[in-house]
Amino acid sequence: MKIEALARKYRIDNPDRFRLSDIDPGDCAGLAIEKDEAREMLRESIEKLSQLQDMLYAQDRWAVLAIFQAMDAAGKDGAIKHVMSGVNPQGCQVYSFKAPTSHELDHDFMWRTTIAMPERGRIGIFNRSYYEEVLVVRAHPEILAKQKLPPQLVGKDIWKERFEDIRAFEKYQARNGTLMLKFFLHVSRHEQAKRFLERIDDPAKNWKFNMGDVAERARWDDYMRYYEETIRETSRPHAPWFVVPADKKWFTRLVVASALVEGLENLALQYPQVSDATRSELKEARAALAQELPEKKKNGKKG
Ligand code: ATP
Ligand code: MG
Repeated sequence: MKIEALARKYRIDNPDRFRLSDIDPGDCAGLAIEKDEAREMLRESIEKLSQLQDMLYAQDRWAVLAIFQAMDAAGKDGAIKHVMSGVNPQGCQVYSFKAPTSHELDHDFMWRTTIAMPERGRIGIFNRSYYEEVLVVRAHPEILAKQKLPPQLVGKDIWKERFEDIRAFEKYQARNGTLMLKFFLHVSRHEQAKRFLERIDDPAKNWKFNMGDVAERARWDDYMRYYEETIRETSRPHAPWFVVPADKKWFTRLVVASALVEGLENLALQYPQVSDATRSELKEARAALAQELPEKKKNGKKG
């Protein structure tokens, strides 16, 4: 299978029929490859991504936003680190969204992420996002209570309304030239337990372990229901969800890289075209510069 085709397998094109149980967290698309081979495939797609990003930046028309959502220890940080490793930091903006501050709570629920949207020419990464507002907030009514909403606006349809708002926001972004790709890293409950144990047993990983994560884990089934509904309600052709198997880290990274490469390729990016007038200015500048250099560099040969 070509790497570009890999992500298509996990893109949710028929959200109405989507079931989370359709995707096995341990799946690796039959790619029984060695670690070295996976690393090489990832390296190749990162190289492609780096070329595409250069064009995205030069053309300065489209923006790209990659959203990462997952249960704890599903590998968001690692996926971001590896997939973006070949990308020019100047063209990339990463934001991690934690529990909101009191200042953020004074605004509408999409305020803090809206001001963090990528500029044209850039790739933005959201490590968690406004999707937390229909996930963790839904799992914890006490968080919603702290949001200072006028009580008459908090009814039984609040989640439906939030989905509607998110769809409208994403449509608006698409119409304004932002390509949005959303990744749910789908880890199994069993694999999460293994990773939590590693975080406890390995002193170098202790800092990653958070007692609160165990409490969220206990709500697993609720979270899976909320994720499933979120994906059904908000996967659209202009802002698709990818449900990425996340029990094997190398595979998660390949799928994410593949989705980004394919997404950027579909934008048919081009370096800005140079006009005839600019071309003749370039010719003049070239002649003047060449005067200053030794003989053999004048014809454009390497000296
Ligand atoms: P890791 O996977 O490495 O633990 P993380 O993304 O979970 O990284 P943390 O600092 O552990 O980072 O946790 C951030 C916490 O902030 C999460 O529990 C998340 O649910 C919470 N959070 C994010 N957005 C909101 C929000 N809008 N309202 C309430 N809580 C939020
Ligand atoms: Mg955490």
